Amino acid sequence: MSWQQRIDSALAQRREADAFRRRVPLAQGVGRWLEYEGQRYRNFSSNDYLGMSQHPNVIRAWQQGAEQYGTGSGGSGHVTGFSHAHRDLEKELAQWLGYPRALLFISGFAANQAVIAALMSEKDRIVADRLSHASLLEAAALSPAALRRYQHNDSQHLARLLSSAVEGQQMVVTEGVFSMDGDSAPLTNVAEATTQAGAWLMVDDAHGIGVKGEQGRGSCWQQGVRPELLVVTFGKAFGLSGAAVLCSDSLADYLLQFARHLIYSTSMPPAQAVALRASLEVIRSGEGDERREVLAQHIAHFRAGAQGLDYQLTPSESAIQPLIVGENARTLELAKTLREKGCWVTAIRPPTVPTGTARLRLTLTAAHTREDIDTLLEVLHGVRE
Ligand SMILES: *Cc1c(COP(=O)(O)O)cnc(C)c1O
Repeated sequence: MSWQQRIDSALAQRREADAFRRRVPLAQGVGRWLEYEGQRYRNFSSNDYLGMSQHPNVIRAWQQGAEQYGTGSGGSGHVTGFSHAHRDLEKELAQWLGYPRALLFISGFAANQAVIAALMSEKDRIVADRLSHASLLEAAALSPAALRRYQHNDSQHLARLLSSAVEGQQMVVTEGVFSMDGDSAPLTNVAEATTQAGAWLMVDDAHGIGVKGEQGRGSCWQQGVRPELLVVTFGKAFGLSGAAVLCSDSLADYLLQFARHLIYSTSMPPAQAVALRASLEVIRSGEGDERREVLAQHIAHFRAGAQGLDYQLTPSESAIQPLIVGENARTLELAKTLREKGCWVTAIRPPTVPTGTARLRLTLTAAHTREDIDTLLEVLHGVRE
């Protein structure tokens, strides 16, 4: 097969499976309203769970940061790209989450790739929840370590896999809140199985940080678990982008030597670090509590109102409230109907989720009003008839 044939055949396969992906350019994609081609939609698609992307303090902080530091960081953190703003943010994150150190990364994807690549060797084994994010599973698959996947949230299966003989070290990998199902990992049990096997635990809490636990410290704090590696990302509840890895002093020093995504990549703009500090300040505060409370009320209201729909809810207590539809074509059709009624939702299809479980991934945020949730419910119940 020639290069061109290979490309054409891959594209044809995607089209046939109703799985062809495209992007749509939006006039506005975050906040309560989404704007597309001059139309306004209620936005049930963004991960901006606390509405922080629109917060005036955060916007102002980014502007002031740019005035102080300029726009780009000018290089990797090992050269000129580590400013006072980066240092202060790392310190505050570490203190907030109760770790000796935090290291900033440009994205959650990069952080997961970097950590797994820097730590895992040939005789090691990664034991990951089978629904872990693509950035984790792909990093694991690319690493020289063996990859075993345990049944979703099944800590007994995890313990069984961990107990089989291995020459090197074992790393257990899970999300705190699962991105496509919205359910939480049983971290206490996972941590117990991990400790018993003498393994290390890595938790990616992209969807829990800012939202779960006291002061928004996330799933691990909420469940009283302290993994050796905690990955938090800023593209969701923080309303910005970037990520941090929380760990011990020696592990941070190790990553500074061996994490290639840190060494060979331009660090985030200092102004972004300033904006992240402003977002963190709100998230930790009483205002953060209020935003989390509004979100919790929306989640409860939605779940109560979604009883009796033809589509299956997942056991999710998070802002991610998927409706499992099943077939790709039917899911796309439903997403289209909802859009026609003014509600913007995203259809998620395989390979992002297992075959036969295509779904609408609805996300609720603190930027919504009670009326938005009522409208969504009315539309969903109306589609059914
Ligand atoms: C979004 C997400 C990532 C990727 O983070 P980015 O900062 O967007 O690259 C990693 N892990 C999980 C679980 C995510 O949901």
